[in-house]
Amino acid sequence: MAVNDIPQALPTLPVHPDPETDAILDSGLLHELAHALGGPFHFLLPHRFDANLAAFRTALDEAGVDGHVYYAKKANKAAAWIERCAAAGAGVDVAGLGELRETLGHGVRGENVVVTGPAKSDELLRVAALQGALTAIDSLGELDRLIALALGLGLGTRRPARLLLRRLPPAQPDSRFGMNDAELTEALDRCVRAGDAVRMEGFSFHLSGYATRPRADLAGQLLDRCLKARALGLRADRIGIGGGFAVDYAAADDWHTFLAEQKPDHYHARKAFPAAGFYPYHSPVAGADALRTVLATTPQGGRDRLGGMLRETRTLLLLEPGRALLGRAGASVFRVQGVKDRDGYAILTVDGTSLSLSEQWFNSEYLPDPVLVSPAGRARGDGVHPACVGGATCLEADLLTWRKIPFPAPPAPGDLLVYPNTAGYQMDSNESPFHDLPLPPKVVLETSGGRRPRWRLDRRPAC
Ligand SMILES: *Cc1c(COP(=O)(O)O)cnc(C)c1O
Repeated sequence: MAVNDIPQALPTLPVHPDPETDAILDSGLLHELAHALGGPFHFLLPHRFDANLAAFRTALDEAGVDGHVYYAKKANKAAAWIERCAAAGAGVDVAGLGELRETLGHGVRGENVVVTGPAKSDELLRVAALQGALTAIDSLGELDRLIALALGLGLGTRRPARLLLRRLPPAQPDSRFGMNDAELTEALDRCVRAGDAVRMEGFSFHLSGYATRPRADLAGQLLDRCLKARALGLRADRIGIGGGFAVDYAAADDWHTFLAEQKPDHYHARKAFPAAGFYPYHSPVAGADALRTVLATTPQGGRDRLGGMLRETRTLLLLEPGRALLGRAGASVFRVQGVKDRDGYAILTVDGTSLSLSEQWFNSEYLPDPVLVSPAGRARGDGVHPACVGGATCLEADLLTWRKIPFPAPPAPGDLLVYPNTAGYQMDSNESPFHDLPLPPKVVLETSGGRRPRWRLDRRPAC
């Protein structure tokens, strides 16, 4: 369409520069894969996961703090991440029996698993206890069930059922997870009475949001509780501070400009998205730096920084990052099937659905700009060719992108749209075989020193 004033005003949100991913987009490999797989797919970059994991461990080392990193598995179901955890001796945070089986099956040792989630089934508690996994207990009833199971299995001193007590965050009193003050006091009493059947190893929490200060404050409080629990004869030598380490998708200026400018005119059907409902795609402190900040914070009423308090009390720090371990570790690829012209913009239809871009199902939109890729590489040009992106279903609401993206060249059938940085939560948390559409496979890309990446399926087809 013609270049005019309206589309030039369309806001954009480019992700941070990523030359390695650009080289993949320019290599022609993605068109080959789209042809071979015959539908949308995700690609995964496991070496980025390795680097993110190493960064968290470095932050612990720098602060002189002993700790363990557990990948929060719900953020992405791929086997590749679990294989990397197994190889690196890292842990995995699971919430159900399926996740536990997957984790053990890919070689992670039971002792490196932490089981979170509310009201766990007896079967999950039993397998966790038998495998020596650490269970974060969510309620007194669950504690009773674990103790009964451990006694029934006769686990005893040699292999007691290992547990943490999960704290209901005092600052998030509406949370449905964890135990309040009185319940924790009672729980400690029951752990003491259970004797050798269980080993109470400490306390845990997981907070919504990304603020660092509340994490340091609550960790400080739980450290005090550990000392009191030790006085009762319990081990209590670790605290788990959960996940919630932000990923920084876009530059500060781009993000603030986007938020200031975006309005319903910029979206198909004039759809209004309240800015407050968007995920914070820019975070000044993210990933391992967020951990550094937490460790360098003096908890409210504390004598020292959290890092110093952990060292002084010989307390291990457990972390459960999900999204942050997956930062820049993958992208989602859809093929344009149709282009329909509308007044001033185009409606693209791609070969997948918004169920493969989960943010769309939280009354929000995945905002980082998708990149248009032709067989020759990333589309270039000075034009402004706005388009929104619909899925291959019969639902009015199935749009991967409601926003009119100002593409530099006119999208055409056969082009690819690559949504960047989708490994954390976007790829599979809502995926569905709706309409008999196949689930997008995941392709693992292994790059080594400038050569064209090698690829394999994350899961081999069943024979
Ligand atoms: C979801 C979850 C995490 C991971 O959260 P991120 O924001 O992805 O880091 C960690 N721990 C628990 C208990 C969770 O439920």
